Amino acid sequence: MAENDLRKTVIELETSLQNERERMRSLRRVALRALAVLSAREPDLEGAVHDLTRTIEEDPDDTQCLDRMSARLADTIRQHDQREAMDEGVLSALESGLGAFPFLAEDLARVRQAAERSDADLVRRSLARVFSALEENCGQALAEREQLTEVMGEIRSRLNDVDSALSADQDHSERTQASIRELHENITGDVSTIKGRVIDITNLDTMRREVIDGLDRVADRVKDFRDTREAELLAAMERNRALRTRSQQLARQVNDLRERLSEARDEASRDKLTGLLNRHAFDQRMADLRADAGPASLIVWDIDHFKHVNDEYGHTSGDRILRAVAEVLAEGVHEPDFVARYGGEEFVMVVHQSLEAARELADRLRREVASIVVKAGSKRLKVTISGGLADVRADAPEGSAFELADKALLAAKRQGRDRIVAVSSG
Ligand code: GH3
Ligand code: MG
Ligand code: MG
Repeated sequence: MAENDLRKTVIELETSLQNERERMRSLRRVALRALAVLSAREPDLEGAVHDLTRTIEEDPDDTQCLDRMSARLADTIRQHDQREAMDEGVLSALESGLGAFPFLAEDLARVRQAAERSDADLVRRSLARVFSALEENCGQALAEREQLTEVMGEIRSRLNDVDSALSADQDHSERTQASIRELHENITGDVSTIKGRVIDITNLDTMRREVIDGLDRVADRVKDFRDTREAELLAAMERNRALRTRSQQLARQVNDLRERLSEARDEASRDKLTGLLNRHAFDQRMADLRADAGPASLIVWDIDHFKHVNDEYGHTSGDRILRAVAEVLAEGVHEPDFVARYGGEEFVMVVHQSLEAARELADRLRREVASIVVKAGSKRLKVTISGGLADVRADAPEGSAFELADKALLAAKRQGRDRIVAVSSG
């Protein structure tokens, strides 16, 4: 790899590292600002907000803090259900604080819609999504930042090697030029000395000796010069060989690092708890969904009464259930279909099937989930899941299928849970 390419790689990596840092910093700044405003407007949230603010400030690399923040705020807001809608003040504080992030725009719009409709259930769900998207982004930025920092360090030290070898070569070629100049000057000097002596000398023999001596001196100089040059040439060749080997090593290492970086990116598209795609990766897959791929349906899933499971059996059991449910859902889809953990106890799935066929699949998965038994100590836990289903139309605006499926999910919850509700966009 040419040295210029390496430098370009370093500059690219440095820029993206800087961007990651910026993204991370602004996310935290905004989270802190949103917390401050929340606490000022909602005295009841003050305790929770104070704890979380301290956590963020004390351990800026704690990726779990936003998770806890979302859970505590959700809990506190839940206790305020009787108020039904969210305060306009809190809403606009959220919007002005978080509105700068394009990836939150849709979720924030849903929070507002739900608040305007005084739909406390939807407010809570949409708010939970805002925070889980925020958390996912922080986690991703952190993972990439770690990898990038490592890559940068290694490349930089290799570049220093190349730099010092190159400057040694430059020194050497400057020295060679100087010695050629010197040789030239010396020979010119010798020749003019001979000329001077020849003009002065009248005796032929003496003149001949002087000329021979003079030429011997010139020959000696040329021999010395050639000897030194030969040694220097050999050394330069050896240096070049070493440099080439090092460059090849460096190119291999940079490729290696690139691969690791892309693995890290791949990892960043997975949810750590369940191994499913995360929301960010889901959004990308949705954007890539081809209009000519035939009919497709979207299912939004949400575990029923999950808060109760956590409250009753603890978070660890809750996590175990989440993994078991994710496994059932993952086994239900095959490329090009996909499923992601959308955040919390919500999943979202795209299958390339008509609404009717997708409904059958969804119902089969729902029954499978209902048959799972997860052990928690001596207890055997069971959960159910609800699903909202809508068809994805190529000509419909972006996000509209999700919107519809989400509404269908809410209807499934209202109709008593453990069921699938399907709506057709047509
Ligand atoms: P519904 O049937 O209406 O969906 O009720 P619900 O209790 O499932 O819904 P709600 O949104 O009130 O609560 C969701 C709960 O999911 C709250 C939160 O503690 C829990 N949760 C979210 N993420 C995780 C996680 O990663 N692990 C565990 N164990 N629990 C989680
Ligand atoms: Mg939920
Ligand atoms: Mg739920």
